Amino acid sequence: MTDKLDFIDLKTQYAALKDRIAARMQAVLDHGQYIMGPEVKELEQRLAAFSGSKHCITVSSGTEALLIALMALELKPGDEVITTPFSFAATAEVIVLLGATPVFVDIEPGTCNIDWRGIEAKITPRTRAIMPVSLYGQVADMDEINAVAARHGNIPVIEDAAQSFGASYKGRRSCNLSSFGCTSFFPSKPLGCYGDGGAIFTSDDALAQACREIRVHGQSARYTHTRIGVGGRMDTLQCAVVLAKLERFEWELQRRREIGARYADLLAGSGVELLTVRADRDCVWAQYTVFVDERARVQAALQEQGIPTAVHYPKPLHQQPAFAARCRSDGCAESLRAAGRVMSLPMSADLSAGDQERVAAALRSLAGR
Ligand SMILES: *Cc1c(COP(=O)(O)O)cnc(C)c1O
Repeated sequence: MTDKLDFIDLKTQYAALKDRIAARMQAVLDHGQYIMGPEVKELEQRLAAFSGSKHCITVSSGTEALLIALMALELKPGDEVITTPFSFAATAEVIVLLGATPVFVDIEPGTCNIDWRGIEAKITPRTRAIMPVSLYGQVADMDEINAVAARHGNIPVIEDAAQSFGASYKGRRSCNLSSFGCTSFFPSKPLGCYGDGGAIFTSDDALAQACREIRVHGQSARYTHTRIGVGGRMDTLQCAVVLAKLERFEWELQRRREIGARYADLLAGSGVELLTVRADRDCVWAQYTVFVDERARVQAALQEQGIPTAVHYPKPLHQQPAFAARCRSDGCAESLRAAGRVMSLPMSADLSAGDQERVAAALRSLAGR
């Protein structure tokens, strides 16, 4: 009973893909094109086809994907970007890095995604983008958000899809639902590499071209620097790893959905509150997050039984020291409430039925009252 579970089991995945990963990486070592090698283009083509988006631009991280997308929109100091405070810091960080102001709209408490009903009231003449986050692997209310954006002069919409690559929404895929979709291949994300990586998706030719240039120091041709850019390429080796992992990604997505549904069954009636998943979309469970009272007590007791948990996220961004004076918000009460109650359980495509039952049984006995 005391052996420790992994919060995310990447070892079983590696064991299953070891030969493919080794062969893919060896091919890169043999041809030696470590930067912008053929695997980069191959991955971009595969991911564009997978998502349904016309263009995929791989970049050095999910954070860089968001930054480059905003740079392609030519954000200026004083501009505003509407987003959610209940996310990883990178979402708002890239806005501040460009001298713009994050304008936070509170979340809808069941899904923890931005409440689209709050967006319209926050639009001003300085609003340059709306950046919903598809949190925990469930796509935000993209149709409603796109409609609000369209009513206000086609404000660009950037989906922060760092946690939702592979998720579907009304028969379409995450990352192909708005002006831009940005994802991350950080190892713990649904599709991960063995370091940092990310990708931008768009079906707009001009924006895609801008992102490609910004990724390599704003070059429109070698040593012709047309715009200010960054060094934001994804390593060929990391692209090779993702290509190998794509071999069983569909299977993993299916497993994630099944494991999510099984958690819901195992925890039904336990007093543990579950995330709402809307009927017209699925969740790929980048984190399997639930709501509990007395979280610190529950986490400590689980830890004692060898069950690791995490909190995504303990403090909304509008209350973080770095952002408090650089953002606008109206308190975001639901984000604060969620931050005090969310707890993520062990989750991965390779989580065994036995381990999952152990987690659920332990949580049931702690949360039961
Ligand atoms: C992980 C994550 C990012 C950043 O991705 P990196 O690849 O780590 O830079 C941005 N937004 C969200 C919501 C994330 O979960």
